[in-house]
This record gives sequence, structure tokens and C-alpha cells, in this order.
Amino acid sequence: MVAKDELWRYFSPDYVTARQRFLDAAEKAGAKITSLPISVRGPSDENLTIDIAYIGGDKPTRMLIHTSGVHGVEGFPGSANQIRMLERLSAGELQFPDDTGLVIAHTINPYGFAWLRRVNEDNADLNRNFLPPGEAYVGEPQRYHELDDFLNPRSYKSTFDMFTLRAALVMLKMGFNVAKQTIAEGQFERPKSMNYGGHQMYEGPKLWLEYLSGVLPSVKRAVWIDFHTGLGPFGVDSLLVSNEIGEESFTSLRARYGPRIQPLDPDAGVAYRIRGGMLEGISARFTDIDWTLITQEFGTYKPVKVIKTLRAENRMTQWSNFGKREKLHSTERLRLVEVFSPNSDKWKAMIMARGQALIDDALADL
Ligand SMILES: [Zn+2]
Repeated sequence: MVAKDELWRYFSPDYVTARQRFLDAAEKAGAKITSLPISVRGPSDENLTIDIAYIGGDKPTRMLIHTSGVHGVEGFPGSANQIRMLERLSAGELQFPDDTGLVIAHTINPYGFAWLRRVNEDNADLNRNFLPPGEAYVGEPQRYHELDDFLNPRSYKSTFDMFTLRAALVMLKMGFNVAKQTIAEGQFERPKSMNYGGHQMYEGPKLWLEYLSGVLPSVKRAVWIDFHTGLGPFGVDSLLVSNEIGEESFTSLRARYGPRIQPLDPDAGVAYRIRGGMLEGISARFTDIDWTLITQEFGTYKPVKVIKTLRAENRMTQWSNFGKREKLHSTERLRLVEVFSPNSDKWKAMIMARGQALIDDALADL
């Protein structure tokens, strides 16, 4: 357990601090460190890198992968959990078999973490950017165009926005589950709009995929935990799994990981189906591995507040005439951070406890 007065050591105030703490903890744990640089830079002109700590032998047959920060700002709590994980590794507190490798990837979207966005340098949601091989970066949910005006106004501010009323009308017209699915699935047609998945696989995702191609060939069995926040009850995690794995696998996962296991299905839980998700997109490229893919999703605030905050932040980014630095220090960005990494000791303690518990469960499951 992490004591309340120790939380500050894990939750960093910015990307640069988080990265340094991660690297220090990785070095202490004796990890092999790989830093994959992307070509854009951070607010202090710093390099932005996907940093990876690897612990294990040259040809492991089992692998635990832990990733966070695919959604930029979600890297704040993701990083905290990974630093704690490395500390526990140093202290010899994690139990795993000899032929196991551990890949811990600190922030898949360093641009979003550093600039306080959820998306990358091209306004793309990287958890929609990993389309399976051969699938084109085109298309959008059938009814996305009905929501486009509401979600993506073409001006910075208007006097009468009436967000809550309009959101209520959308829910009434479409139904909550259809609206949720339509908003969150991912669209590949509107680069300035929310939920954009990109027009190609971007630099960061490509580098990450290349890295994995180097470490996965000997692996037969892998568990992958991808850490997220922003969906579900405050501080409580849902373990989201693809609804295409079949009933038998689903029942077996519930037996191993408990009732937190939920399908990615808009009608059966807090989540929704997505296109271009990282776990599905990458595992589809390594079909010889027996995969267990888990999105660990911690709740923060209510869905309407989360969408309102995301919408305001994208609107400011796309349509205000602020410079980069003004955008970084805007209320919209600060609110975005709060919505995905609440400044609450209670929340932080909850996610640290459950984040580590899932790592233990995954290692036992390998
Ligand atoms: Zn996320």
C-alpha cells in the first residue's frame, strides 16, 4: 500500500518529471531501457520519447506488457502506477516465473502527456490509430454526422452554448447507448473533430509496434494491461475485454480476474466498441501468441462532464487564436487534466491499490 503522504512521489506534476522518475525507477530495478523519440517536441523544447523498461531474458516464452498514456493526460496516473511497479520489482515484491519478460511502456503518446491533451500532435486518438493490417483509415459511425455540430462547434466560444440541454436532447433522440457508441467508436473523416483516429498509423505507434516485433518472437503467452482513466464510477476500475472473444473465454476471464471483467459492448456495461484500438490492432499482428488483453479503465467523473470537458478542450485548441503556450496554460487544458487525473488523495490511493492488484493477478495468470 502507498501511504497518503507518499502519493506525491508517484504522481508527477508534468511529463518531464514523470519521465525522469520512471527512468530512475527503471534503472534501479535493473531494467533494460529503450527510449523511442518522436519528432515533435515538448513545451520546454524537450525531446518526447516513448520510454520502455524491459526486465527478463533474451528469449522469454511468457510476457507481461503494461502500457499507459495512450491517451496523453491519462499518463499522469498511469506513470504513477508504473513507477510503483518498478519500485516493487526492485524490492523483490513481484513474483513471476523464470521464462517471463516484463515490458513496461511509459506513455505511448508523449505529445499528449507533455502538452496536456488526450490526443496526439495530429489531433488523433491513438487508441483508434491501430487499425488491423489492411484496413483503410476511412469511415465514421453511421450517425456521427448527426452529432458533429453539437460535438465540434466551429468557433471558440458562444454566449449561449447550452451544452447540458443539448446533450440531454441528443440522449433523448438517440438513446444513451447509441449516443455513447456513436461518439466513442472513432471516426476517420474529420481531422479537427473529436474521436479522430488519424489518416495513417503515426510515428509513435509505428515505433512501438517495431519495438514489440523485436521482443515478441519467442513469446507464446502474453498478458497485456493497458491503463486508462475517464470511464466508470470514481476510483473504481473496470477490466474491459473485446466482446469478440466468445462466451467461454469471457467466463474464464471472469473466473481469473473477477466480476470487474466487462465486455466492450455499449449495451452491456460502461464501455463501447472501438475501431483501431491498440490491443486488438497489435495482437492481430502476432497471431501465434495466446493473448489476454485487458483495458484497465478507472472512473473519474460522470460521462456528460467528461464529454463536456473534452469538447471544450478540442474547441479551444482548434478554434481559439491562442498560441501554443497559452493553450497549454488554458483553463480548458487544466480541466482536462482534472477529468482524467483527479486531484484527490482518495482517488489516487484507490487507483494505486487496484493498479498494483491487477499486475499481481496478471503475473499469476501467465
Ligand atoms: Zn483512455
